[in-house]
Amino acid sequence: MSSRLPVEIDPENLVEKKSELSGHLPLSGFVRLSEALIVDEGEVDIIVSFRKDGDIKVVSGHVNAALFVQCQCCLKPVCIQVDRDFLLAIVRSNEQAKRLPDIYDPLLLEKERVVFSDLVEDELILAIPDIPRHEDCQPEQLTFGDVAPEQQAEPNPFAKLAKLKSKEN
Ligand SMILES: [Zn+2]
Repeated sequence: MSSRLPVEIDPENLVEKKSELSGHLPLSGFVRLSEALIVDEGEVDIIVSFRKDGDIKVVSGHVNAALFVQCQCCLKPVCIQVDRDFLLAIVRSNEQAKRLPDIYDPLLLEKERVVFSDLVEDELILAIPDIPRHEDCQPEQLTFGDVAPEQQAEPNPFAKLAKLKSKEN
């Protein structure tokens, strides 16, 4: 997949042409998103297609990325695997947005062109849970570091055996 994504797009024109865009963008390029990220390395893979469903101008696609955010439970990094489909309909007003069938999210066009990465960034931000956390987070594990040195004091289970043996002798 070559990355020849345009900086700006004219979504209505792309709908007319039934275009498809695919490629990848570096996560470090998303200003709003990077506020939520602990690590902004990596990329997002994107496929977007433009078409009409009846009278509705549709922008649909998929974003795929691994985002590292802070677990709100233990405050350590947690990886959010984003594998998200989106289905947008181009609208020119909030009124028009309200009339959309439920399956579509509105893409409100305030001018002809939109910054393509903004569209992708919105989808990534929406994919981050309100309260990101490890699936099975146990913040008690924070004390693990305190316990570990005690465990390391007797790292060799055979050490005890050796002592027992020397007593036997
Ligand atoms: Zn956690």
